[in-house]
Amino acid sequence: MKKTDLGWIFVLFALAVLFGTAGTAVADLIWPVPEPLPLHSVPAVNYLVLVSKEHPVPEFWEASVDLVRMTNSLGEDVAVEAAAYDAYLGLKEALAEEDIFVDISSGYRNAAEQQKLIEDLTERYGEDYVKQYAAEPGYSEHQTGLALDLYLLIDGKAVDSREDPVNATEIWEKVHAKLAEFGFILRYPEGKEDITGYGSDPRHIRYVGDPETAKEITEKGLTLEEFSDRS
Ligand SMILES: [Zn+2]
Repeated sequence: MKKTDLGWIFVLFALAVLFGTAGTAVADLIWPVPEPLPLHSVPAVNYLVLVSKEHPVPEFWEASVDLVRMTNSLGEDVAVEAAAYDAYLGLKEALAEEDIFVDISSGYRNAAEQQKLIEDLTERYGEDYVKQYAAEPGYSEHQTGLALDLYLLIDGKAVDSREDPVNATEIWEKVHAKLAEFGFILRYPEGKEDITGYGSDPRHIRYVGDPETAKEITEKGLTLEEFSDRS
């Protein structure tokens, strides 16, 4: 055998070893490696979730929600689900163009905060008021992070429609007219108390995600209860 033949045999042998090993390595990589983790291992948020006196906040809901924290004009800390907060900023800006100024008095509340609120409201307004306007812990839409209570700023002053004698109905109507465009609905409208289980409340808005859905709910004059029953 010539020297060059030996050289070739060596080269072929080396290649066989190399590819053989590489082949094993690839197989090792293919089989024992688990499925790649999904990019978002957290379940997607169901923006149409129905939470009411009959429908509790789904179990583990809070684990799927990304909350954004902000401070309102009164210096209070408020947390809101991330997409709902983005949508709110769009709404706020659109309203400001019409010289209407709003801020958030309450967004996400956990069960303990809801309990505390019920106790405070009972002390201030009595049990009947609480039954009409406040939810039991675990049954509050605020626990989803998708519900916001707004307040108006008139002449730079925060106005609480519940306590202020100023009739701000006209301003609220303008606010409500803009909601759907940004994926919000007025959650407790007048005349639907029997369906929602709550007294009408101009401040409480609910993010439902898709503006087209919000428009459909609003234009057809539906509550989230009625909309959920149909779909
Ligand atoms: Zn509310």
